[in-house]
Amino acid sequence: MPRIAENLKTVRARMAAAERKCGRIAGETRLLAVSKTFPAESIREAYAAGQREFGENYAQEAVSKVMNLVDLSDLVWHFIGPLQSNKTRQIAEHFHWVHSVDRLKIAQRLSEQRPSAMPPLNVCIQVNVSGEASKSGVSPAEVPALAAAVAALPHVVLRGLMCIPEPSDDAWVLAARFGLLADMRRQLQQGGLALDTLSMGMSDDLEHAIAAGATLVRVGSAIFGRRPPKAL
Ligand SMILES: *Cc1c(COP(=O)(O)O)cnc(C)c1O
Repeated sequence: MPRIAENLKTVRARMAAAERKCGRIAGETRLLAVSKTFPAESIREAYAAGQREFGENYAQEAVSKVMNLVDLSDLVWHFIGPLQSNKTRQIAEHFHWVHSVDRLKIAQRLSEQRPSAMPPLNVCIQVNVSGEASKSGVSPAEVPALAAAVAALPHVVLRGLMCIPEPSDDAWVLAARFGLLADMRRQLQQGGLALDTLSMGMSDDLEHAIAAGATLVRVGSAIFGRRPPKAL
């Protein structure tokens, strides 16, 4: 079996075991394959092994892969990286999802720039669940106001919340971080927002995220291998 197919099988087995262990419904958690820095050929390999949802971090690189892979018409593209204002148009025109919305201005631009022929863009708000230890994402206190404002935009659909906790080997720390995101979603749901997505968990901590209620895990290196160090 080719390496990527083999890795995908292993990751899916880890997810199934984690779901079983905490009594969740089998197959309830979706797998997003994070293909940043890897070539379109690697995505074709994963596609051949049944994977359909892919995550990218860098707008330019991502759009060139989207173009290269248009023949695979049922691919679902998720943008998960930091978003700059001057990149929102490319993202709005080529992606199905954005996980990394952390301010209203970005969401407004995505909504304005979403082509009217396409269905609304699915978005998640990225929450900083690690306090001082991380800079990306909106602070928990700011989430309710941002969520209400994003939910009111016409060409995006607020689907849920996303987080990237600081790396940790401590199961209690991970449980607390992922638990905070799950609590925040519950609060927003009680406030009347229909949020079906908790985007949390990566190669090293997906079991903890699934135990805390993740509906989608974002897995890169466990599928595609180690990434080269990021070029500046
Ligand atoms: C790179 C990345 C991932 C995947 O990380 P791995 O540790 O390789 O699984 C997940 N989410 C985001 C936002 C990323 O940037």
